[in-house]
Amino acid sequence: MPGDYRQRYLRLLPSVERVLQESILQDSLVEMPRSVVVEAVRDVIARKRVQIQNAAVDEALGLEFSPVRLAGEVLLALEEQTISSLRPVLNATGVILHTNLGRSPMAASAVQAVREIGGSFSNLELSLKTGKRFTRYEHVEALICRLTGAEAALVVNNNAGAVFLALNTLAAGREVIVSRGELVEVGGAFRIPEVMSGSGAKLVEVGATNKCYLKDYRRAAGEDTALLLKVHTSNYKILGFTAVVPARALVKLAAEQKIPCMEDLGSGVLVDLARYGLPREPMVQESIGAGVDVVTFSGDKLLGGPQAGIIAGKKKYLEQMRENQLLRALRVDKLSLAALEATLRLYLDENKALREIPVLRMLTLSPEELLRRAESLAGLLTEKLAGRCQVTITREKARVGGGSLPLASLPSMQICLEAPQENAGLLAAKLRRADPPVIVRVHKNRLFLDLRTVREEEDQLLVQTLLQILGSGEGNPEEAGTEQ
Ligand SMILES: *Cc1c(COP(=O)(O)O)cnc(C)c1O
Repeated sequence: MPGDYRQRYLRLLPSVERVLQESILQDSLVEMPRSVVVEAVRDVIARKRVQIQNAAVDEALGLEFSPVRLAGEVLLALEEQTISSLRPVLNATGVILHTNLGRSPMAASAVQAVREIGGSFSNLELSLKTGKRFTRYEHVEALICRLTGAEAALVVNNNAGAVFLALNTLAAGREVIVSRGELVEVGGAFRIPEVMSGSGAKLVEVGATNKCYLKDYRRAAGEDTALLLKVHTSNYKILGFTAVVPARALVKLAAEQKIPCMEDLGSGVLVDLARYGLPREPMVQESIGAGVDVVTFSGDKLLGGPQAGIIAGKKKYLEQMRENQLLRALRVDKLSLAALEATLRLYLDENKALREIPVLRMLTLSPEELLRRAESLAGLLTEKLAGRCQVTITREKARVGGGSLPLASLPSMQICLEAPQENAGLLAAKLRRADPPVIVRVHKNRLFLDLRTVREEEDQLLVQTLLQILGSGEGNPEEAGTEQ
């Protein structure tokens, strides 16, 4: 009978009670509800049962069902359940605004604000002065106005939401004129043409991909035009023979047409990056200064704060957006708002912003500082990994990422690890599953760790984790490496 051996093995499976008696499970039985442990034991036994039922004779012989072995599997499963899915990681990719890695890490004061507001009641929608209702937006409006020169401001969930709300409010059912060269796609899901149609506005493209003149906008403007839209091509550049219409000229044309002019800045930086040797990125203050009626930008790109979409501009238009029912659906939550307020406060003193906002600090780190740290870490690694792994320092450029400054490459330093006997992809996968996870770049069977995106206070932790993983030598051949 072919089914016989299966029956025999099924009978070998220990009972739930028997596995629960194993000594390695006793701590778990004290620390967590019995039902959770029992459930995990049942799961493991059920998994074994399926294995037996699917096994051919020879394989079945290889299966091991001792209570202690099963208890070990239970323990692993219980440990996995207690680790958070969303965890802090060490970003050694050198990409500062890495959307997959949560974009910008926040300043200490922003983190503190999240802790305080999150763990307590707050005056989110209550004026402490008058005891009356207050809108959540008022906590940051004055600050945004002060920093950008705008008359009014509003904050929503993210910049995609900001653009959507502005278009829906100002142009639903009517036309919006945009240059062909500015039909941006950001991270797949956000595309100007799609956002436009979703918002109910009609896109009117003008100009050619590389050149667009004021006369193109003028020719397209008519009865049905509701808005002139300028989009900062934040994640690409058109080079060579190009022409774009400056904001000031668009503002003038919009005024003639008695319609507003809007600019989606994407990153929305508040400090002049050119002063720190970086490529110029249009500043929010400049757009407002040029008279743009509505400016939108992200909270977690170059601003270095929480995910948020900031809308700054003329009172008249901001009032209309406040009245839009969609605002409720796009509403910013109190934690982001708390972090945003704290982040914006740092900008009141530019030096403080540069020192305390991690994104700005990383952007402006000097090569000398990076070299000093790289040499110190490489020294430690060389000493401990001698014979297993070759450690060198490379000087490749780092990217800003997050759809910002696409052409900017920052002179940077990497620690390069080469273990000729091992597959770098497998090592990267092991580092990703370490505690804390370390995210590195793999190229030509070598690991590159860029220190620009690692905070100096994380250096020791990085070395320890590397030594733990690279020093241990047991490989896991099932894990195929992915080049990042
Ligand atoms: C990034 C970006 C957006 C989307 O901003 P999120 O904050 O990611 O929603 C919109 N427009 C431009 C030009 C961008 O660069």
